[in-house]
Amino acid sequence: MRLVRCTYGARRYWGVLEAARVRLLEGDPYGKLAFLRKTVSLRDVALSVPATPTKIVLVGLNYKDHAKELGMRTPREPVIFLKPVTSLAACGCDIVYPKAASRLDYEAELALVIKKTARHVRPKETGNYILGYTCLNDVTARDLQKKDGQWTRAKSFDTFCPVGPWVETALDASSVAIASYVNGAVRQRSSTSEFIFTIPRLVSFISGIMTLLPGDIISTGTPAGVGPLRPGDIVEVKIEGIGCLENRVVAENPKKELQDGFGCDKI
Ligand code: MG
Repeated sequence: MRLVRCTYGARRYWGVLEAARVRLLEGDPYGKLAFLRKTVSLRDVALSVPATPTKIVLVGLNYKDHAKELGMRTPREPVIFLKPVTSLAACGCDIVYPKAASRLDYEAELALVIKKTARHVRPKETGNYILGYTCLNDVTARDLQKKDGQWTRAKSFDTFCPVGPWVETALDASSVAIASYVNGAVRQRSSTSEFIFTIPRLVSFISGIMTLLPGDIISTGTPAGVGPLRPGDIVEVKIEGIGCLENRVVAENPKKELQDGFGCDKI
């Protein structure tokens, strides 16, 4: 099942995508699904980020091929960091290239959305706590990451966390193809079978540190092949069994952003 979050008319809804139509839901999908008696065309809605997180937790290095590419040893424990919820951007929204950065990288990642409160969950029980899976682009100002030594600034600009287009609830995410494209040319191509830490291990590890709440996002790291973006580029994250997250990169224009927001339904 594909769960979408969208704006229809002046209201925000969750819904279930069936072919090109959306069956609207009452409330959120973290508990039992309750359908409204209303189905609308996908063409008539604007997609939003398909999660309502209190935090976005990302894993630093989790693909064997990426560790090899960087000449780094396989970590013994996951290295995690956070992005703020204000960095979220929906599928189709612009990624704003900040004036403060001189090197902006894409990072294609498989992300999961938490379904119910999780604290000290054992790996084999984590499946009950996952609503489903989606695509995430961990946009990073690489120059600022190197300069600062710690990652908050480099990872946290507004629009640096595109997520979507929807949440797939019926995916076995242990071995799916993941790829990124810039202007149609493939840049990353791997499989989640390359994970250093499996999804149950990651969810268990993170839930032992911080309570995970419904809607929270965990992103599972990026494979080999990260590289730069420029204003005007179209970047896509494609994951087998989910779909394609597409965003355009634009140069920062504070006047325009203050006036128009980001030109689409950001959060
Ligand atoms: Mg990343």
